Amino acid sequence: MTPDGAAPIATTTGLTKVYGKGEAAVHALAGIDLELRAGELTAIMGPSGSGKSTLMHCLAGLDTPTAGTVWLAGQDLGSMSDRALTAMRRTKVGFVFQAFNLVATLTAEENIVLPLQLAHAKVDTEWFDQIVDVLGLASRLKHRPSQLSGGQQQRVACARAMVTKPVVIFGDEPTGNLDTAASRDLLGFLRHSVDELGQSLVVVTHDPGTAAFADRVLFLSDGKVVDDLANPTQATILARLRTDATDANTDHAHPDATGAATGADADAATQAPTTVAREQ
Ligand code: ADP
Ligand code: MG
Repeated sequence: MTPDGAAPIATTTGLTKVYGKGEAAVHALAGIDLELRAGELTAIMGPSGSGKSTLMHCLAGLDTPTAGTVWLAGQDLGSMSDRALTAMRRTKVGFVFQAFNLVATLTAEENIVLPLQLAHAKVDTEWFDQIVDVLGLASRLKHRPSQLSGGQQQRVACARAMVTKPVVIFGDEPTGNLDTAASRDLLGFLRHSVDELGQSLVVVTHDPGTAAFADRVLFLSDGKVVDDLANPTQATILARLRTDATDANTDHAHPDATGAATGADADAATQAPTTVAREQ
């Protein structure tokens, strides 16, 4: 239980993931004890290969731990059948990935409600309107993905993740294809979804300015949580990264870390050559 008595959305104990065997074994997660609190935006930072994606996949029931336990939304994932896990992922978890993965032939609105259609569930129009409002998409609903900027497309992907009212949304580098300004924009909108809609979010990011939108930043290194920063600011995050300059340097190849990504880069990644100019 968290100090205010709210049940955690996820808890791990001794979470371990080893890929491969013998000399080739990679300890992607080396024993993680973690509690993620409801109604928070948690950022995860760490060098490439430190285990961020593996941690998210294990938390979301997309990957099976080698050892340890994961509880998600009050259930022990290790004790669940594949079928129950699949149902859990569909109803309790939302995902946002680096590639926006929108359906090109559908409008923004059609993309957002797609998960409900696939589940033959009704759209809660009040909730839909709230999400669209909080993510600033009201004037973009009739647009197709190719008519939207990268940042707008990712907001549509976030709305699509939220529409099923998941207990938690996991974003694995959701800003990875966005330039620095669009990254911070997206996190600003996600911050609103936490504050105004109570959505719990866990987001991997390389950008200290983006992570500063979080309530908490977890720092991973070699499959372990090496720091846990509450109420972070860009300054405290940068200071923390500087204490581990070697690790921080390994991440400088990532466009988010340098701020060097241009609109054209983000563009090429989304294969939507005419969209960036429209993000005004
Ligand atoms: P991050 O997301 O922080 O970059 P990952 O969780 O993707 O890190 O990877 C952690 C470690 O596990 C890395 O050394 C990576 O090479 C390894 N790894 C990840 N997935 C696999 C896999 N399917 N098979 C083998 N090794 C993997
Ligand atoms: Mg990763």
